[in-house]
Amino acid sequence: MTLVKLDPSYEELRAVARDFARKEVLPRAAELDQSMEYPEALFRAMVDAGLTALPIPEELGGSGAGMVGLCVAIEEVTRYCQSAGLMVLLSRLAAGPLLVSGSPEQQRRYVPDVAAGRRRGSFCLTEPQTGSDTSAITTGARRSGGGYVLDGRKAYISGATVADFYVVWARVPDEEGPRNLAAFVVDRDSAGVSIGHIDEKMGVRGVPTAEVVFESVVVPADARLTPPGKGFAHLMAQLNSARPGVAARGLGLAGGALRYAADYARQRQAFGGTLLDLQAVQFLLADIAIGLEGARSMVYNSAALVDSGSYGKEAAPYIAMAKAAAADLAVKASSDCLQVLGGAGYMMDHPMERYYRDAKQLQIVEGTSQIQRLIVGRSIRDGGLTFD
Ligand SMILES: Cc1cc2nc3c(=O)[nH]c(=O)nc-3n(C[C@H](O)[C@H](O)[C@H](O)COP(=O)(O)OP(=O)(O)OC[C@H]3O[C@@H](n4cnc5c(N)ncnc54)[C@H](O)[C@@H]3O)c2cc1C
Repeated sequence: MTLVKLDPSYEELRAVARDFARKEVLPRAAELDQSMEYPEALFRAMVDAGLTALPIPEELGGSGAGMVGLCVAIEEVTRYCQSAGLMVLLSRLAAGPLLVSGSPEQQRRYVPDVAAGRRRGSFCLTEPQTGSDTSAITTGARRSGGGYVLDGRKAYISGATVADFYVVWARVPDEEGPRNLAAFVVDRDSAGVSIGHIDEKMGVRGVPTAEVVFESVVVPADARLTPPGKGFAHLMAQLNSARPGVAARGLGLAGGALRYAADYARQRQAFGGTLLDLQAVQFLLADIAIGLEGARSMVYNSAALVDSGSYGKEAAPYIAMAKAAAADLAVKASSDCLQVLGGAGYMMDHPMERYYRDAKQLQIVEGTSQIQRLIVGRSIRDGGLTFD
């Protein structure tokens, strides 16, 4: 049990997601990590179970479970497997920019297909030369013949090789302001779009990460999602609105690691009792449990903020706190739980070394743990967070 109580409808969803995770995800998790192949059959099973439809409103073909519902499903799936959790999240990462910034027509064109698993998308912001400093991206969107021509290279894009469309952040040179950013939705089969370097990763290896290259890619005017002068604000809103989903991956990983380590320590004999009888081991696990209960409350509160339509500047520090807390917890939990297993934890006979490798990604993606602190710190400085 947990002290964080959600509406009963979410608890029903939790039971379904838990069952799915045990039957479909757990048996595949280790193999997924080793083969490094995208699991098409697992994706189809996710679609059939309705997981890709969760964060999408009913009028666009989804089930309207919102970010809270998505976090519930992600938390359950990531108790066993981060790659599977990222696959669930990717439906929101692809549809999110359209939901936050797209017109009704743009939404109708893409979002129902994402909900039904007919099309997959990737979010393309990071470039080889810049990640955290988003206002320094150099991918260009030059106006031409009533539309735009895109040129640039995006790096570390999750799901790039299996995506059917990309949400691409670019700079529009003839628009005013230092942050003349705009988002475009670009079909994968557009002329000039190609996959560059495919990364070899330390963790989350079931979902490919790759460069996406745009060479003189012609897109129509209605491929543009964000209005002139508002690009940076829309980018921040898109990132804020997705962050609870990344944070939920940290909750699942920490909870899964904690349960596994506690079960192991309960049966492992040492010094005339079990490992779990040792207070030093109890304290290690207790610290993770304390962190988990706190992070869970922050993550579901931030997801509820997003569902209430609050993911702008006022909500940003709370969402950032939740993301940083859950990501940092996942890294600590995977390290400490591996320690509880001793030598066994280091071996691939147990999942802990995989959790350890997978956890680190969470402190980097969707804004690093430092960038989350930067958001919180600036909010304190500027009076957004007042602690009155
Ligand atoms: C597995 C994986 C999947 C990814 N998937 C995607 C994806 O789907 N789409 C996408 O667009 N990107 C994706 N990324 C990229 C990810 O979002 C970036 O790696 C991340 O934003 C950091 O950018 P960077 O790597 O350029 O690091 P940098 O920005 O170069 O940062 C390097 C270090 O400096 C720190 N730092 C930077 N600026 C500051 C500051 N102002 N204050 C304090 N510390 C700072 C950072 O926290 C970090 O520790 C993915 C990355 C990984 C590893």
